[in-house]
Amino acid sequence: MKKVFSIIAMLFFTAGLFAADTMNMKLGKFDVTAIKIQSTNHNKKLFRYKDEKKLEEFLNQKDSTESAINVFYVDTGDHKILFDTGINAQVLLDTLKSINVEPKSIDTICITHMHYDHIAGLIYDYNKTFPKANVYIAQEEIDANKTSEILLAYPNRIKTFKQNEKILPYIQSVPAFGHTLGHTMFEVTSEGQTMLVWGDILHAPIQFQDPNIYLTYDTDPIQALSTRKKVMQDYADTDKYIAGAHLLNCGIGKLQKDNTGYKFIFFNSNSGK
Ligand SMILES: [Zn+2]
Repeated sequence: MKKVFSIIAMLFFTAGLFAADTMNMKLGKFDVTAIKIQSTNHNKKLFRYKDEKKLEEFLNQKDSTESAINVFYVDTGDHKILFDTGINAQVLLDTLKSINVEPKSIDTICITHMHYDHIAGLIYDYNKTFPKANVYIAQEEIDANKTSEILLAYPNRIKTFKQNEKILPYIQSVPAFGHTLGHTMFEVTSEGQTMLVWGDILHAPIQFQDPNIYLTYDTDPIQALSTRKKVMQDYADTDKYIAGAHLLNCGIGKLQKDNTGYKFIFFNSNSGK
């Protein structure tokens, strides 16, 4: 029965008739809504590790390669902001509508990098999905994707920034190059609470066990690997939330060190922790 339901759900899902999963959280005085646009599962052949036998063990664990595509919506009171736009504009629009957010009310969009699963939501029916939004993309990322249709679709609306520059008083860009040439994270802070939108620092749960595991998606795997290790080291066991584009359960939680690697403690909207 469960299987039949999930097949039906999947059919609706691809047709965009099914609302995506959402999760709400307060960050200081900001309202955060994490939106899971869709679930995915990585092909096991795309993973790489120094020890092939050990990699096989990791991959054979349950749900080791399960993944998702998440978008984060933040209402600060004076700005309505999206972090990335996912892979399906229809699902994003339907979900925003279900939480009473109109596309024209979105004024700021921060893009971690220009891979399709992060920018496809910017275009709907051959036109821009968010007519009044400024779209912030790191200069390095724009330089590497000069012919992207996104840049053409948002004339005068594409805003670039330099490494570590602030986009708004409470949004700090943090360079995290490697996955792509201009891959960028964003720290959002309100009343002493911080959430790091980390984009594609990590793609699948097994990478928590050992950040040295990587996927062939990275433009520069060596740099991506050292970036991942540094970011995880810096943010583990802190009070900062992490919002990941490809993490499960809508993607928000805190990172903890454990014996050999890390574990991710998902935010629970029922308990508020
Ligand atoms: Zn991605």
